[in-house]
Formats: sequence, C-alpha cells, structure tokens
Amino acid sequence: MNNLMIKNLRILDGEPTDLLIENGRIAKIAPDQEAGTTPVEDAGGCIAIPALTEAHTHLDKSLLGYPWYHNDVGGGNLMAMIDNERQMKTRLGMDPHVQSMRHALQTAGYGATLIRSHVDIDTTGGLRALEGVMETAEKLADVVEIQTVAFPQSGLMISPGTAELLDDALRMGADLMGGLDPCGVDHDPKGHLDTIFALADKHGKGIDIHLHERGELGAFSMEQTLDRAEALGMKGMITISHAFCLGMPDQARVEGLLERLAALDVAIMTTAPASSPAPLVKQLQAHGIRIGSGNDGIQDTWGPYGNGDMLERAKFVGLRNNLRSDKEMYQALDICAGGGAVAMGKERRTLEVGAPGDLVLVEGVAVAHAIVSHTPRKLVVKAGRVTARDGATLIEAP
Ligand SMILES: [Zn+2]
Repeated sequence: MNNLMIKNLRILDGEPTDLLIENGRIAKIAPDQEAGTTPVEDAGGCIAIPALTEAHTHLDKSLLGYPWYHNDVGGGNLMAMIDNERQMKTRLGMDPHVQSMRHALQTAGYGATLIRSHVDIDTTGGLRALEGVMETAEKLADVVEIQTVAFPQSGLMISPGTAELLDDALRMGADLMGGLDPCGVDHDPKGHLDTIFALADKHGKGIDIHLHERGELGAFSMEQTLDRAEALGMKGMITISHAFCLGMPDQARVEGLLERLAALDVAIMTTAPASSPAPLVKQLQAHGIRIGSGNDGIQDTWGPYGNGDMLERAKFVGLRNNLRSDKEMYQALDICAGGGAVAMGKERRTLEVGAPGDLVLVEGVAVAHAIVSHTPRKLVVKAGRVTARDGATLIEAP
C-alpha cells in the first residue's frame, strides 16, 4: 500500500539520491541498486521539498472557473467588501462545492497536501458553504487534507442568528471555531469573544480567529483572547490569523504579547502582506512561536490576487521579512510547508526517514531559485501516492 521509489532527486540543495516511501512514510534515502517491484518515478534531478501547507485560505470564495470578475470595491473599507461578497455570492449563483473543488485542486497541483479553510457561516447562506467544502474535503481526502473553520465573516453580535448557526456548524463537523475582529467588526469584544470561546469549549474544538485590528486596538483584542484561552485551559488550541498588531512600532508592547503567545502555545498565521503591518517571523521564531502562512482568499470578490501556490507565498514571506541567505530561504519554505503543518496541529512534513511520505518535486537549480521563481512542479506525492503531475492533479476539477 502506497509504496513508491523516487530516483534521482536532490533533497533540498543536496546531491542526487533516491528516496523510498513504504506504507506512506519515508523509509530510506540512499542510492538504490535493487530492481524491486515497487513503482518507480524518475525525478530527473529535480529538487525535493516537503509537501506545502496552505494554512489560511477561503475555499468557498474563489471565482476560479468564472469569467474574469471586475471589482468595483477598493481596498480599505472592510464592511463594504464583506457586504459586496455576500451579495455577489447570491447574484453569481456560486456553488461552494464546485468552487472549493476548483480551488483545492489548484492548490494541491502546486504541491499542498494540507489546507485550512475558513468557511463563511452567515444568516444569508446558512450552512451551505460548509456543506460544500466538507463534501470537497471528503472527495479529496487522498489528495489533500482539508481542515474547516466555522467563520462568522459577516459578524456575530451585529448579525443575530449567527451564533446558533456556528453552533450547528461545529456539530456538523467543522474542525475549528472562527472569529473576526471583535472590536472592528462587531464593536463588542466581550460579546464576540465570550460567544466563540463558549462554543469552542462546548464542542471541544480549537479556535482560529482573524485579527486585522492594528496597533493598540488589536493588542487589546489579542489580550482579551489570551485571557479566555488561559481561563479555559486552551493551551496549544488557538491560532491568531494575520495578527497585524504584532507589526506595530512599540517593541516593548509587542514583546510582552509575544511572551504570552509563547506561554499559551498560540500559533500565528501570516500572509506576509505587502499592504499592512505584520508579525515578523524572526521575532516569532525567537520566542518559539509556531508560524504558518497562507494565500488567504484567491481571485475572489475581495481582489484579483493569488493562485493557491504556497511556493510563491514563501517568496512573499521572504520579501516581507528580509530573508536572503540560503538558510533563511529554507525558513521561508518551512513556514509554507512543514512548519505550517505544525502550526495547524499536524505532524511536520520533512524529508527524513520516518516522516510522512508527502513531498513535491520542483524544477530549479537550488531551493532559493525554486522559491523566487516558483518554478514548475514535476510531481506531488501524498503518503506515497502520486497526486499531481506537471502542475495538474490526477483528479480533474469540475
Ligand atoms: Zn482570511
């Protein structure tokens, strides 16, 4: 079951060798002389990297497969973007299952074997988006593992009925409780955080909260979040996505927050944005904080950017954080691969004997070259099973 011999690959920037996967795990990395019965793939000298991790996206939102969407809503007005999206989803007749299949398969074709998707739960769409994404997760289980987050995109306290839907979503099987700007969107940090923590506690689930609030407002919401995590004994069960407030100039304030995040083993997810303050990965790493990255929504009503490629995202992580040396480029890759998996509470993807047989063969002369040029993917393997060739998954998108 799921045995595979890959010949003539280079582990990161290493010399050519062969790699054997047995029973879904890496069993041997050494030049191979035996002519066994295990299926063989010729890597042709490609670089092997651990499989990529898309730790923050929205599979129910992408307009992939639609004619190009002309956007009238500029950046900067969060509520206008939220309202526009909710209306357009209905107007365009988007099918969350079809859209999430297209998005997840494109991401998997680029080499991701793990995806965490926030899924809109609101009083317009109800649980329809979650049903669609969960159907995709089930269909693609052999290609990519998909975690779902029940996400109150249109607010919680400002939208009566949403809390009940979130309760239903967690009962239905959403993996995590979501949240969104307790002050900025809901204008009721106590109400918002008390509600999402009560629901998470009731269902025994972790939390992944979007926190775009900047500066001192974001720091306040973060502290309120950490207070509740501490009181409920949720060490290691919280992710804070974006966490723009950690990019504020007051370093003494940021250091104090980082100490608390580390003590509660809170994971931070950053897209390494070009247009916002952002957590600095070296500073987080110095505190031993788990870090993941993600493309966030791609080609949706929020904007035209993104394609689901986590190797391209590694380049943005490097650019945003001034990573330049080969060693630093490995760190950028790790945040988008094995480290991202750990941030999601999963086993680290790494190219060592005993590790999961999840890897990607990438063209290019060196890892840094592969990242900056996000070079073509020759082969994607999940647990010893080939899932994509030359950028296309073996399962076709609808
Ligand atoms: Zn998001």
